[in-house]
Amino acid sequence: MTLQKSWVASANTPNTPFPLNNLPYGVFSVSGGARRLGVAIGDRILDVAAVADALPVDASILSDPRGWNGLMELGQAQWQAFRRALTDLLSEGAAECADALVAQSDAQMHMPYTVTEYTDFYAGKNHAMNVGTMFRGPENALPPNWLHIPIGYNGRASSVVVSGTDIRRPWGQLKGPNDDAPRWAPSQRFDIELEMGAIVGQPSAGPISVDQADANIFGYVLLNDWSARDIQAWEYQPLGPFQAKATATSISPWIVTAEALEPFRCNTPAREKELLPHLRDTGPMLYDIDLTVTLNGDPIAQTNYNAMYYSAAQQLAHHTTSGCPMRVGDLLGSGTISGPEKHNRGSLLELSWGGKEPFKTTSGTRSFIEDGDTLGLHGAAKADGYIIGFGDCMGTILPALDDPFKG
Ligand code: CA
Repeated sequence: MTLQKSWVASANTPNTPFPLNNLPYGVFSVSGGARRLGVAIGDRILDVAAVADALPVDASILSDPRGWNGLMELGQAQWQAFRRALTDLLSEGAAECADALVAQSDAQMHMPYTVTEYTDFYAGKNHAMNVGTMFRGPENALPPNWLHIPIGYNGRASSVVVSGTDIRRPWGQLKGPNDDAPRWAPSQRFDIELEMGAIVGQPSAGPISVDQADANIFGYVLLNDWSARDIQAWEYQPLGPFQAKATATSISPWIVTAEALEPFRCNTPAREKELLPHLRDTGPMLYDIDLTVTLNGDPIAQTNYNAMYYSAAQQLAHHTTSGCPMRVGDLLGSGTISGPEKHNRGSLLELSWGGKEPFKTTSGTRSFIEDGDTLGLHGAAKADGYIIGFGDCMGTILPALDDPFKG
């Protein structure tokens, strides 16, 4: 695991999130101009349409109005060939195409691809234990299915937004003093969930193995599943989350490819109960990625993706077992990633233990998000000589609008 050197000098600095080893895919514009597909390299973006002649795909792929969906559709052999060509183009000693570079500081980032479907899982054991303990007591914290399948719900692709998009505090129906008197009010317990998003890059039409699922995953993003806990508490039984999770889900602007993460593969934690054969790991399919949550710039939690009980490959394989077709551009949220200790918790619900233990930040004490707060997710896989960064996943909370139904 050594740094691959580039003729782009900023890509060779020790702490750059975007060395030649990374080459993540995004969509950018400059000064309100057209959206363009780009690859992050150091503090620059390579405008791929400007170097189309050197890349082994049809030029239409490089100006796909959907973003990077066209490359995904070509399949794994083409993903690898494309990445090899980019690596050759940007390696130290190659002919320099500096005219095709744009400074990241001049660019605005957009959705890196068109999300076709969105499913969110609940596959972090520490998170499930914490939330289950709060709501049902420690004996009943984990439902009986939890150690046998990665449980999840179907979300809304329409709600996924790119980092930097402001998030409006939602109104919703909240539990009242008793079950006969719910209230209509802005959420007072608005929260984040620190997650990774896996992007499905190949379609499937029936059940697929964990190995095939692993091969079908194109890449990963950071994902913040904004969650209104008070709406959730009233609506979630028996069919699960609905409006509590529908306001927005933010993703980081760069798709980090599974290929770039290859050196960081690791095993899922030891199984507490043996899985049925069709969901068993056949090798390391999780990744060692350090994750941090910030509130107005202050780090409030640190954990690692390697704490998840189920890999994205296991989630995808499970998703197909019923025959559910998966599409190119399907987004799978991992579930909240919490580690074992208090400072490893990936939601404010857990950090404040349901609001019972408000915690200190440099912006003051918090139980849940306050209007004007900016929440950030940050991630990096760290080798000795380089870092694979994700680009931050940021969102600022705007106050709720006036009652939308006030007559
Ligand atoms: Ca979630």
